[in-house]
Amino acid sequence: MDLSTLRVDFPLIAGRPDFVYLDSAATSQKPRRVIESLKRFYETLNANVHRGAYRLSAEATEAYEEARKRLARFLNANPQEIVFVRNTTEAMNLVAYAWGLRNLKEGDEVLVTEMEHHAGLVPWHLVAGLTGAKVKAIPLTEEGRLDLSALDRLLTERTKVVSLVHMSNVLGTINPVAEIARKAKEAGALVVVDGAQSAPHLPVDVKALGADFFALSGHKMLGPTGAGVLWGRYEVLEGMMPFLGGGEMILEVHVDRSTYAPPPQRFEAGTPPIAEAIALGEAACYLMEVGMEKVFAHDRALLEYALKRLEEVPRLRVYGPRGEDRGGVIPFTLGRLHAHDLATFLDQEGIAVRAGHHCAQPLHRKLGLAATARASFYLYNTKEEVDRFVEALLRIEAKYR
Ligand code: PLP
Repeated sequence: MDLSTLRVDFPLIAGRPDFVYLDSAATSQKPRRVIESLKRFYETLNANVHRGAYRLSAEATEAYEEARKRLARFLNANPQEIVFVRNTTEAMNLVAYAWGLRNLKEGDEVLVTEMEHHAGLVPWHLVAGLTGAKVKAIPLTEEGRLDLSALDRLLTERTKVVSLVHMSNVLGTINPVAEIARKAKEAGALVVVDGAQSAPHLPVDVKALGADFFALSGHKMLGPTGAGVLWGRYEVLEGMMPFLGGGEMILEVHVDRSTYAPPPQRFEAGTPPIAEAIALGEAACYLMEVGMEKVFAHDRALLEYALKRLEEVPRLRVYGPRGEDRGGVIPFTLGRLHAHDLATFLDQEGIAVRAGHHCAQPLHRKLGLAATARASFYLYNTKEEVDRFVEALLRIEAKYR
């Protein structure tokens, strides 16, 4: 599945044949259409939303609400279930504070996994500290999958939340969320999915996943920074108190009390990221037009090609499962080279990869590593770039052996 002809749509990389961007798991590059959407908003539509009687404000509101519909279509959800937030981190905090703080108590448990990004852990630690709830984790197998044999033991009547990453930002593992959600719901738990890596790379149907919440970051799926989405099942959102208070999210305010608007406005206090949300809508349309099945197939083809070619590099170790349940992310180490040195040497070859713990310290602890280097692919990457990556690693290996 070759989508590399789309590369011309991405100005930052289209004009730079010597630059190989392999860090899309951190943030994606942006197509011209998204960049132009931001410019068009400020040049032709700029006004605050939901509060103006004049035409320009009504047009800005219409564009913002159209973006909500586009994101709903992208996730197979209803527009009233789409809450615009800044990013996945904010979405996870919203759920932890607005739901967790009010519903968890001493003795309750939040079940996470050992492969969570810190955005799926720290909000629960904060709320556990305030409520007396405990955070427990589904362990990993040697190959880097969830050990589902532990699930029945860990999922008890004390489990009030199961919060898990859909696709690991380190190992690329795609977790069987629908199966886990079904068991979690049977146990009466709320299911929260960190979709920061899955939404950009796989077809996502929140109805089929069977979860209660799904969080994504726009900047990882061709959108601008500053806009993300929290999808929430309407009945759950409707039963929740707000996270942040202020303008836009109220029905009526008195000096000593207030009542709150229905979702999604209840969770969008203050002026939202208007231009960014509209541009994110444009990004979602771009991805829908390409087709998420094709995006996934392209990532998978690059992954399999890269995994095969990386076998040529002596002393290179790659982590993560082998199989269909793996997206286009490759964490690796090379002999005794520090991951940061490795990333610096690759940068000298014009190749951008990330190094560090990738906001997943528990996972790295499990792997017995302080850090890994990580290459990640997206629809604009090519087989030729994989070749350049492997050849650069061969040179680095030979030089620092
Ligand atoms: N969850 C996962 C799996 C991620 O990969 C990331 C970003 O790297 C996040 C959450 C946090 O995303 P953001 O920094 O956009 O809030």
